[in-house]
Amino acid sequence: MVAHTQTLFGAVALVAVLMGSCLILVGRLDHRDGMLTTGLGMLSHSLAYVGYTLFGHAPLWISYVLANTLLSTAMAFYTVSLPLIHGRPPPWKLAFTFPVVQVVLLTVLLNTQIPRQLTACMVLLCQCLLVFHFSRRYSVPGGRAHRVLLFGSALSLTGLGMRVVVILSGAPAEMHYNVSNLKQTFSVSIGAATVLMLSFGLVLLSRERIESQLRQTAMLDTLTGIPNRRAIIEHFTDEIERACRLKTPLAIAMLDVDHFKRINDSYGHLIGDDVLKYCATHLQRRLRRHDHVGRYGGEEFLLVLPGTDADGALQLVDQLRRTFCDKPARFAGHSINLSFSAGICGVSHVDEHTNLTELLHQADTALYAAKNAGRNTLRVAGAREKEEAFKQQ
Ligand code: GH3
Ligand code: MG
Ligand code: MG
Repeated sequence: MVAHTQTLFGAVALVAVLMGSCLILVGRLDHRDGMLTTGLGMLSHSLAYVGYTLFGHAPLWISYVLANTLLSTAMAFYTVSLPLIHGRPPPWKLAFTFPVVQVVLLTVLLNTQIPRQLTACMVLLCQCLLVFHFSRRYSVPGGRAHRVLLFGSALSLTGLGMRVVVILSGAPAEMHYNVSNLKQTFSVSIGAATVLMLSFGLVLLSRERIESQLRQTAMLDTLTGIPNRRAIIEHFTDEIERACRLKTPLAIAMLDVDHFKRINDSYGHLIGDDVLKYCATHLQRRLRRHDHVGRYGGEEFLLVLPGTDADGALQLVDQLRRTFCDKPARFAGHSINLSFSAGICGVSHVDEHTNLTELLHQADTALYAAKNAGRNTLRVAGAREKEEAFKQQ
């Protein structure tokens, strides 16, 4: 079915202007969610299509040069939206060089036909490639935004490629914006699909990004910035599965700051909070890259140590203990002696019967034993003889 090309352009412009205006209304300059830039892109897109409807009725500079420059501007806005949504600095200069090149070249080539048409298509093709590249780079592979953005930019590349083929095959007049034929209907429909898919993909991307930020925030302890109880339990669950699959050992350590209540009582809760932050930083800095630490409770921290058995965990946690109580830490002019006690539980052969709750319970019982033994010491679940070697020194 052959549609009237300029009516089609008008319909796409109407849809784009409505959607773009909605995005501009909700978008704000200080919100780096890409809504404003996506909306401005759609507005430019719709104005470009309005320009195409004027082809043959208005001067060529308006219906061709200005219209194609507006389309390039739309692509530039889509280009900057991708890194912007991802939280990266957008390449403003690179993106907006294309519309500038477009306006200059088309003005110079205004009185030619094939060079002018090819130039417009080639500049837009380069921009589509950039959008395709950024879509791959800034969206999560396999995610919905990723699929929609890649499909939208690939579709746009196909549409423009088709125009180039028709122009080069010696029928440039068939691609005039006031000519209605099957190729034009197809090409303009692809243009319509592109604008809808790119804008929808960008909105989806923004949503995915916000969801991932919320997920991350929900997993972090607000005071110390390290994983909270929920997150460290998730890491622990994952590590049990991994150790079971790879047949590697796994250990955990439950740490509790000694006499923390006294610190609160003597120096106040704010200093107490600083001590907790200091503990989290100390543990995080000294652990190996693949170990996990999380705030399990008030002044309790849980370490998950993959590939480590009870012996290895004992060595590691004892080293942490020594460096921790080494010298007094300073907080707002106060010099405070700190120490912690820990309960360790290690499993040499993790299998499908290994139970997370049971391991936590064992580590907790060992911690209780360490506290009863006078604090600033470690206990290993079910290994009395090893414990003796690491008693308080
Ligand atoms: P023990 O050596 O037996 O572990 O004694 P403790 O004083 O460390 O343990 P206890 O359980 O008696 O006290 C823990 C205190 O930690 C009580 C609670 O008010 C305090 N606490 C829990 N969360 C926070 C927090 O986020 N900030 C501060 N400043 N204090 C907290
Ligand atoms: Mg304590
Ligand atoms: Mg406690």
